[in-house]
Amino acid sequence: MTEIRICHLYPKEMNIYGDRGNIAVLQKRLEWRGYSASITSVGIGDEFNPNNFDICYLGGGQDRDQMLVAHDLGKKSAAFLSAAKDGVVFLWVCGGIQLAGVGYTNSDGNRISGVGILDLDTSAGSSRLIGDLVLDAEIEGDNCRVVGYENHAGRTFLGPDATPLGSVVKGHGNNDTDKTEGAIQRRVVGTYMHGPLLPKNPWLADKLLSWAIEHNTGETPTLSSLDNSLENLAQQVAISRAGMKR
Ligand code: GLN
Repeated sequence: MTEIRICHLYPKEMNIYGDRGNIAVLQKRLEWRGYSASITSVGIGDEFNPNNFDICYLGGGQDRDQMLVAHDLGKKSAAFLSAAKDGVVFLWVCGGIQLAGVGYTNSDGNRISGVGILDLDTSAGSSRLIGDLVLDAEIEGDNCRVVGYENHAGRTFLGPDATPLGSVVKGHGNNDTDKTEGAIQRRVVGTYMHGPLLPKNPWLADKLLSWAIEHNTGETPTLSSLDNSLENLAQQVAISRAGMKR
């Protein structure tokens, strides 16, 4: 049985709004298709070996949480960059997208260096961007509506090497000005969407899993279809809660 290897980065420090639920979705959608999934927590002081993983997941965190991991993150940045260049899949959420970039200047004016796996930079604004978020996402020419919840002070602007995960239909997104949300570069995905994100967005979950299986086996898989009726219903409820018709 093919085992897909998931790294859960800083699970103690970076996990708000139930973001760790994304790990459960990745694991179950692999197992429902006959794969196994290993989940390894990598915390402060632990080694991140880029050869040991197919997916690296980082949840969101408040400014204080991000400061807690900042020093250790810097020590791991070369390994993250090597993994990203090798096609490891990254899903880094909210505080995570900020730390995936060049850096984050937080609400107190403290600068936290990012690891540079996404071409973007973030500075905190004077207000928080909070609420339901609906976007039209595009990955490799494939489009789908994606929903989530955002709560961040950071305003993120993408550089030329990163493309948005999608365009904002409802909500604030990266910076509340250019209607972009998230970022993709190689197989690195950053997003502001909490929720957790993946239970209501099976399309996105399967994109990430397809990449991860390809990284592990060297071949692009044909994923068997799953009954997504509950997931789609949850997405519909979220879209209507955002004050939109599906
Ligand atoms: N601390 C960051 C900000 O306020 C990220 C917050 C989060 O992860 N929800 O922008």
